[in-house]
Amino acid sequence: MNKINWNFNNTYFDLSRSFKEDINPIPVKNPKLVLLNKILASELNLDFSKVTNKELSEIFSGNSLPEGSNSIAQAYAGHQFGHFTMLGDGRAVLLGEHVSKSNKKYDIQFKGSGKTAFSRSGDGRAALGPMLREYIISEAMHYLNIPTTRSLAVVKTGEEVIREKILQGAILTRVASSHIRVGTFQYVAARQNKDELKILFDYTIDRHYSKIKDSKNPALDLLNQLIDRQCDLVVNWMRVGFIHGVMNTDNMTVSGETIDYGPCAFMDIYDPKTVFSSIDKMGRYAYCNQPIITKWNLSRFAECLIPLIDNNKNKSIELATEAINLFEKKYEEKWMNMMRNKLGIFGSDKNDKLLILDLLTWMHEKKADYTNTFCHLMDQEPKKDEIFNDENFLNWKNRWKERLFKNNNSLEKSSKLMKDTNPLVIPRNHKIEESLEAAEQNDFKPIFKILEILNKPYTKQVSIENYQHPSKSNKKYQTFCGT
Ligand code: AMP
Ligand code: MG
Repeated sequence: MNKINWNFNNTYFDLSRSFKEDINPIPVKNPKLVLLNKILASELNLDFSKVTNKELSEIFSGNSLPEGSNSIAQAYAGHQFGHFTMLGDGRAVLLGEHVSKSNKKYDIQFKGSGKTAFSRSGDGRAALGPMLREYIISEAMHYLNIPTTRSLAVVKTGEEVIREKILQGAILTRVASSHIRVGTFQYVAARQNKDELKILFDYTIDRHYSKIKDSKNPALDLLNQLIDRQCDLVVNWMRVGFIHGVMNTDNMTVSGETIDYGPCAFMDIYDPKTVFSSIDKMGRYAYCNQPIITKWNLSRFAECLIPLIDNNKNKSIELATEAINLFEKKYEEKWMNMMRNKLGIFGSDKNDKLLILDLLTWMHEKKADYTNTFCHLMDQEPKKDEIFNDENFLNWKNRWKERLFKNNNSLEKSSKLMKDTNPLVIPRNHKIEESLEAAEQNDFKPIFKILEILNKPYTKQVSIENYQHPSKSNKKYQTFCGT
C-alpha cells in the first residue's frame, strides 16, 4: 500500500539509454532519520502520518524503494574550473518524478546513495556534515525567495565514510524541478548525435518552457529564456551575498534553480573578491566574478544549441552570439533594479549608479558587514555599530535620503520595499558550523533552531540577534567540496 501518497510519473527514465544508467541505491547498514522537512512534504502532498520513524529511515536511505520509482543515475558532462569532463551522477540516484496534487512535478533524488557507473574513483557516499549543510543552506535560500533545489530529508547511514578522517555517512533527499543541467546538454552535444540532442531539447521544453514550444525559433528562445532566468538567479545571489563556490557548468540547472551546495557560503564583510572554497585558488568563482561566469556558462549552453537554432551553422552562431552578448546589458539593468530595491528607491535617476557604487566602496573600505549595513539603513541592525558614525557614511546617507523622496516615494513605500529585499538574517558561517558540530555529537537542537530562524529571514523574531552577527574570529573561513 502506498501510505505516503507517492505519485510517480517518470519521464526521464523513458529517454534513450545513453542518458542514464538504471540503478538502485545501494542499501545501507543502519539508517536513522535525522531531519525531515514536514513543510516541504506537505507542499508535495506527501503524508508521513501513517509511517513509523523506522520506516522513514528505510525509505529515505533507499533501503526500501517507494512504489512507482524507477531509479536512475543521470549522465552529464561539465566544464570544471574551465576544463571539460564527462561526469554523471557519481553518488546520486534519481528515484523518479513525483507529481503533486497541483500537478507540479518534482525530481526526488538521493545524494550519497552509493556507487554508479559515473562514480569514477569516488565511493558514491556522502558525509553527514555536508548533507546537513546542504539542507540548511538550500532551505535558507528558498526562504530568501531564491529559486533553488530543496531538501526533504537526511538520514545517517550507520556506515563510515573515509575522507581526511573517518566521518559518519549520510544521505540527503534532494527535491528539484528537474536535474537537467547545462552539463546535460554538453554531454549530449559532445556525442555529436543530433537526434539525441533533439530528444533532450524537446524534453526540456516540455518540462520547463512549454510556452515557447510553438514559437518560431524555440532553440533560440530557450537560450534567451535561460539567459533571463540565470541572470535573475545570479542577481539574487548578489543581493544576499551568496557565493556558490563551484559554478561549473554541471552545477548550473536549465530550470534556473540554484543547485549543488558544496563549498558555498555567505559573505559577511563586503569584499567583492571574497572566495571561501579551498580549491578555488585563482578566485574564478569569487563573489564579483559570479555574473561573468554565469555568462561564460551560458555561452557553453549556447554552443550546444547551435545545431538546433538554424540549419545554416554560421547563421546559428551569429544568432546565439547576439543573444549571449546581451547578457551584460540585461545583468546591469537587473542588478541596478535590485540595488535600488535594497535602498528603497523608486524609478530611475541619473545619479543612482554613483549612489550605489559609493555605498559599496565605503563598505569595502571600512570592512562593513554586507547584510547588517542594509539592516542599519532599515533601522534594524542587531546592535548599534560605531562604524555607521563615520562621516563619509553620514554624508552618503544624506544623499540617499534626498533620493528616497524622489518619484513620489514615501517612507512607508520605501521601508516596505527594503523589508522585502534585505534579509535580517542569513546563514552565518560560524552559526552553521556550530550547529553541525552539535549534530556530529547527536545534538540536533541547534540545527532545528537555525532552521526555524532561517525560515523567516525577513521577519524580526525572538532571539534572532544571536544569528545576525558575523563571527568574531579573525580566522578566514574556508569551505570544502562535500565529497
Ligand atoms: P560536485 O563537485 O559535487 O559537483 O561533483 C562533481 C562530480 O563528482 C559529479 O559527477 C559527482 O557525482 C562526482 N562525485 C562527487 N563526490 C563523489 C563521491 N563521493 N563518489 C562518487 N562520485 C562523486
Ligand atoms: Mg555537481
